Amino acid sequence: MKAKTFKGGAHIPHYKSWTEHIEIEKMAVAPYVIIPLSQHIGAPNEPLVKKGDKVKVGQKIGDSTEFISAPVHASANGVVTDVDYFPYYAGGEALSVRIESEGDEHEFHPTVQRDPESMSVEELRSAIREAGLVGMGGAAFPTHANISPKTPVDSLLLNGAECEPFLTCDHRLMLEKSEELIAGAKIMMRCIGAEKCYIGIEVNKPDAIDKLQKMLENEPGMEVVPLEVKYPQGYKSTLIKAITGRDVPRGARSADLGCVVRNVGTTIAGYEAVVYGKPLIERVVTVSGPKVGKPGNYIVKIGTPVDFILQQCDVVPEEGCKIVMGGPMTGKALTTLEPGIVKSATGILVLPPDMASAEVPYTDCVRCGKCVEYCPMHLYPNQLSIYAEAELYDLLEKWNASDCMDCGICSYVCPGHRPIADFVRKIQPELKERSRAGKTG
Ligand code: SF4
Ligand code: SF4
Repeated sequence: MKAKTFKGGAHIPHYKSWTEHIEIEKMAVAPYVIIPLSQHIGAPNEPLVKKGDKVKVGQKIGDSTEFISAPVHASANGVVTDVDYFPYYAGGEALSVRIESEGDEHEFHPTVQRDPESMSVEELRSAIREAGLVGMGGAAFPTHANISPKTPVDSLLLNGAECEPFLTCDHRLMLEKSEELIAGAKIMMRCIGAEKCYIGIEVNKPDAIDKLQKMLENEPGMEVVPLEVKYPQGYKSTLIKAITGRDVPRGARSADLGCVVRNVGTTIAGYEAVVYGKPLIERVVTVSGPKVGKPGNYIVKIGTPVDFILQQCDVVPEEGCKIVMGGPMTGKALTTLEPGIVKSATGILVLPPDMASAEVPYTDCVRCGKCVEYCPMHLYPNQLSIYAEAELYDLLEKWNASDCMDCGICSYVCPGHRPIADFVRKIQPELKERSRAGKTG
């Protein structure tokens, strides 16, 4: 079958060979974890614990009464030493719970084993909400909200593209937790009322495609869709276009197109939440880079400090290297190694100076048109970067800057090294504010 794709995007080096064949392994538990109270898009959580409290693995430690939010849970047994502001991976500080781990036993032991078939849709959504699930591919949108569409949905699209270089955690999950993935997909399908499920996988993961295709032979309504290897194949709009052929109009949500898109890791976590009541207290993280002593795909407790992860993987950061949480295109370069791993962290990458995009001076736009050619949202990134630099918000609105999905391709292809995506990212909060004021004012 010919691999499907979308118009635009770019072929970029994969760098997946360091970890793609390494089986998932559990990482040791750190002496302490720092768990940010709000790791999702939506209303912030209030702490449910205070300094000195003893906590158990899986205990809820932060929650909100708002619908668009997701609770957080203790990932280790221990004692709360602080509820305070700690360095956050995306910059600045975030209100977090610091737990000093006690003892050697930090596994989650389920007290239930439920049959999803015997549960109502509301019970399924509630189990997913209580487990604090968010989009684990990077989006961090609360999953229970995502699977409560207000308009009819016909298709669930599972995102197994994993289109960013280095990352292989989803690849390994599709191979090693295939049954849970299929069971999780059925749960999601029931929640959204979809009759079809497509698992989109880039063709550089032939073993995962092959395995899931065989397993789905007798599953009517579920199929694997091989995708061309191209960045950003795994974004919502590009995935929807590639798999269903449907265009996502400006301002539309995927549910408006009859689709709900979920990451494969989130889908497996959804299965564990529903069947075992397991909260999102750990996730698989790819630790990679040419100088990582022990690269791999590790199950890491949420809140594990980055410097502990680096120690466990025999990394001695060299002068000028870049440590990134997430993928190299959309992840965040860390300014300190203190932050704890968050629910949406797909990787910890150690990029040596020759791979890290150095802070080179950028030039004026030479109007080569490359960024326009590659932009998967069919925007004019060259214009947007100029308007964003000058904070010309009327023009940014006119040129649809809010449609930017922050894929970073424009910066990657620009011969003048213009940090286009950074410019466009910085003006988004103000654009949102203006849009809100326009709607309510
Ligand atoms: S303008 Fe936005 S969507 Fe277009 S290439 Fe740049 S980062 Fe990607
Ligand atoms: S790629 Fe860079 S130089 Fe070329 S048009 Fe875009 S902003 Fe200008």
